[in-house]
Amino acid sequence: MLEFDHLRVEINGRPILRDVTLSVAAGEAVGLVGESGSGKSMTVKSVLRLLPPGARATGTVRFGDTDVHTLDGAGLRRMRSEDVAMVFQDPRATVNPVRTIGDFLTEVLRDQGVSRSDARTRAAGLLADVGVDHVARRLRQRPHELSGGLLQRVVIAAALATSPKLILADEPTTALDVTTQEEVVAILNERRREHGSALLFISHDLELAAAVCDRIAVMYAGEIVEVLPADRLHEDARHPYTQALLRSRPGTVAPGERLATVPGSPQSAFDAPAGCVFADRCPQAAGPCRDVRPALLPIDSGLAACHLLPRETPSVA
Ligand code: SF4
Repeated sequence: MLEFDHLRVEINGRPILRDVTLSVAAGEAVGLVGESGSGKSMTVKSVLRLLPPGARATGTVRFGDTDVHTLDGAGLRRMRSEDVAMVFQDPRATVNPVRTIGDFLTEVLRDQGVSRSDARTRAAGLLADVGVDHVARRLRQRPHELSGGLLQRVVIAAALATSPKLILADEPTTALDVTTQEEVVAILNERRREHGSALLFISHDLELAAAVCDRIAVMYAGEIVEVLPADRLHEDARHPYTQALLRSRPGTVAPGERLATVPGSPQSAFDAPAGCVFADRCPQAAGPCRDVRPALLPIDSGLAACHLLPRETPSVA
């Protein structure tokens, strides 16, 4: 369904993403996790060619059989309006503040050629599907009259309106309170399963991503450093960065104990070492770590990029 193959993005000659290789199968949910600045949003935006001015992408982003970099304007518009839906962090930045919720939802459907009255009926059904009550009134309301949680449900309803093959969700619950976050993520995941949509889900919350997704890809400084099945996250995490993230989750220490942190500060791709991108913060850094870049290679149930991990030696017949 979606494949990044050695994707590299530079802005004004400075690397932002380096060698990102990852796939998402039809109907699969993949979580992209890591600290701020690791390149998660840039990876997702590259699917819809929403990179900032001055950005230059090399490598391949393939959606189905199509290389996204080669799409013309019409092809790109079709992909954005029919095949791929995006849910951003802040719903208030997504919905036009001066138009009604009904206008926002029916516009998506009218672009598909649905008649005005059918679009109104479908919009009401979509709102009910994502757990919004009093739908007739909601359709007449404007964004400022809805809470952040309700408005993000509206955005999810719009994302599902065209039954997209792929949903890109960029920290869709960051702007919401904790209780609402869980509800909204559960609704997004249930509905996208019903529609058979694949999901690329960005989060800095490992537990949340593991609860929603089939596989987890961990990013650091513009690179993917580990990929593993979500249900093996705690048992099979082998990369020192993934292990450090797991240790620094709230709830892993008793009340009064100090929470572990990842030492040092997050780095961007352009100020990371030439070898392993995590070398400046890794407590196990040694030998070739700063100069030789570790490859993302199979280990246990996933892939990891670290010189210290044992690799299978091919047997000699
Ligand atoms: Fe740490 Fe070296 Fe492994 Fe990088 S390659 S994660 S610096 S041990």
